Amino acid sequence: MGSLRLTERPHVRKARLWVKLSDGKEGWVRCDLCQRRCVIAPGKYGACGVRKNIGGELYTLVYGLLSASNIDPIEKKPLLHFYPGSTVLSISTVGCNFFCQFCQNFEISQSRLEKGLYGVYRTPEEVVRLALVYGADGITYTYNEPTIFFETVYDVAKEAKKHGLFNTMVTNGYMTPEAVDELGSLIDAATVDFKGGGDPEFYRKIMFVPDPEPIYEAILAMKDKGWWIEITNLVVPILGDKPEYVRRMARWIVENLGPEVPFHLLRFHPDYKLRHVPHTPVKTLEKLARIAMEEGLKHVYIGNVWGHPLEDTYCPKCGYKVVDREGFAIVEWRLTSDFRCPRCGYKLNFRGEYTPRNINYPMPVM
Ligand code: SF4
Repeated sequence: MGSLRLTERPHVRKARLWVKLSDGKEGWVRCDLCQRRCVIAPGKYGACGVRKNIGGELYTLVYGLLSASNIDPIEKKPLLHFYPGSTVLSISTVGCNFFCQFCQNFEISQSRLEKGLYGVYRTPEEVVRLALVYGADGITYTYNEPTIFFETVYDVAKEAKKHGLFNTMVTNGYMTPEAVDELGSLIDAATVDFKGGGDPEFYRKIMFVPDPEPIYEAILAMKDKGWWIEITNLVVPILGDKPEYVRRMARWIVENLGPEVPFHLLRFHPDYKLRHVPHTPVKTLEKLARIAMEEGLKHVYIGNVWGHPLEDTYCPKCGYKVVDREGFAIVEWRLTSDFRCPRCGYKLNFRGEYTPRNINYPMPVM
């Protein structure tokens, strides 16, 4: 492919959701995929490093260019109340619109800065075939921010739907409402990942994101489209563990999404440029979980602490343990087929169906 011009390469495609600028900015474009809304001069890249203005038009450079593909349990996303026990094909590209100094996937999310673009090119049909061959129930767009590989998500999701697969994304939520609208019913579920409780100072200083507020707007757009939503919050000790922000977030979820939306408090582990920050103490996670429950949330989970009682699901009405988990595995499923508590009959907030899984560990498939 060395002799091909950039726009002739299969992974370089005209982008979606952008506009040409005028009034002295002829040849410039504005990308409307994420809330950065980058204004990009000819020959330059957006902040994510994978969208380029070529000759006055915006191109994605990572169409179908997969940096990873694995078979994962859906609980790893984490999605605990959506098709529990199912298996997904997880795919990613490179680049990100955030610059989290603790990113566990920094090798792919920040790779454009250090190693250039890379990946294995796959068409949407090939991705879906992989999912079907490995017996996956759906496809998850994850590891790096799916917003920035929107065109791949769109085309793969469309193909997946033809074959009865569901689509989920793990996102930082910094999408524009237009991007959510365009995906519409192609996406079935989203895990929206907050960090540091959504503290604006944490977002500015540790992630180089100007303001987390637009994330809430995107979540409401997802809700309008009928996407299943679970919210996570990575608790970073000392820097991003303020109880008032978790309280505010929990209150917002109760008021806007309902008290039974799953809320996950995730344990931080040292990585990338924050290797000097320790793991989150379990006591901190437990304290924040109590706060979220005080605000009315019924399904508060602690993630990345295997064996913790808050990996399990309890009936909001009678307190009976209805799902027993160990890490990403379901050890015991006690709900009825229509997600009712077997003890009191209360109907819990789940979507889809329970599928007992015979694969519990991630498998690379690329
Ligand atoms: S997706 Fe990339 S180019 Fe588009 S607005 Fe976001 S950071 Fe900028």
